[in-house]
Amino acid sequence: MTPYDALPPQGQSRSPSPGGAGLTDAFGRTVTYLRVSVTDRCDLRCVYCMSEHMVFLPKAQVLTLEELDRIASAFVGLGTRKLRITGGEPLVRKGLMDLIRSLGRHLKSGALDEITLTTNGTQLAKFAEPLFDAGVRRVNVSIDTLKPDLFRTLTRGGNLATVLAGIAAAQAAGLKVKLNAVALKDDNAAELPDLIRWGHGQGCDVTLIETMPMGEIEADRTDQYLSLTKLRAELESFWTLTDLPLSTGGPARYVEVAETGGRLGFITPLSHNFCEACNRVRLTCTGTLHTCLGQEDAADLRAVIRGGADDEALVEAIRNAVDAKPKGHDFHIDRASAPAVARHMSTTGG
Ligand code: SAM
Ligand code: SF4
Repeated sequence: MTPYDALPPQGQSRSPSPGGAGLTDAFGRTVTYLRVSVTDRCDLRCVYCMSEHMVFLPKAQVLTLEELDRIASAFVGLGTRKLRITGGEPLVRKGLMDLIRSLGRHLKSGALDEITLTTNGTQLAKFAEPLFDAGVRRVNVSIDTLKPDLFRTLTRGGNLATVLAGIAAAQAAGLKVKLNAVALKDDNAAELPDLIRWGHGQGCDVTLIETMPMGEIEADRTDQYLSLTKLRAELESFWTLTDLPLSTGGPARYVEVAETGGRLGFITPLSHNFCEACNRVRLTCTGTLHTCLGQEDAADLRAVIRGGADDEALVEAIRNAVDAKPKGHDFHIDRASAPAVARHMSTTGG
């Protein structure tokens, strides 16, 4: 039995944030979800995410574990109920387990509902049990194909077997695994039904993601783009999809697939607007707070804390940033245009 077994079930409502004042923006949306990128580094180089010769940030620019803890904890104090740790690849960050164990104090106190992780799975076999012991109950694993050769090509060198072993280890440790796949027109489009069937067979929800125009990469994004609206129509030619009323406050829409008995999510930031219910903000590994994935808006919380701000000033900076959260984003895929947002997903935290 872990110390967390005594907690109420995830998602069950508890008392509001300490001080009673949550984070609400100018459009009345309440921010309860923080995604934290703990590193821009990664042991893979997925073609849609990074350039082959990615230049990573100097260490001094990246928040220390203590700084990450301080900012995340300030959010928890302001009513954040869910933290998602991401990257880059979060499991390559040295000392990450110390950070997660430390943030686990907010689970124990009941201030936080959950800490989750988005990972490429390459290190999961090693970290699955420590993650569970630290209070993590769910992880998202990114896997775009079940073909070893294509996996190696898409990730520029990754080993599919390692990721599959990581998924198995996570499940054996008691972690619920959701699978994320980026839908790529030429590379994995035809395989997606098999990938979904396999994922559902493993007891995993599967979410498909449209490519987003973030950061300069070598490939032409217009060539990679696959509309999930079209893909859904295709899946419906042989599967029965029933919309689920499940809302995460994010860009995913869920259906149940009758034939597999599993849940399938669609993240379609390019086809649909999902901004009116947005409950989330993102902290980069350099301490920049982005209140919208698709806009260049940013607040430099690293400058705030390295400038010697006390907790009150940090809270003030967070409140000001959330107050200015843009109404919505403006993604469009256009062959001639530059990326809608210059930063890479790996810096922002997908
Ligand atoms: N390294 C971890 C992983 O791959 O799961 C966490 C970070 S990664 C940036 C988070 C998610 O963003 C992954 O599911 C990845 O497939 C997705 N992603 C990366 N670049 C993307 C892009 N340009 N468009 C859509 N999704 C992207
Ligand atoms: Fe690394 Fe994740 Fe980006 Fe792939 S998607 S390069 S695993 S950060």
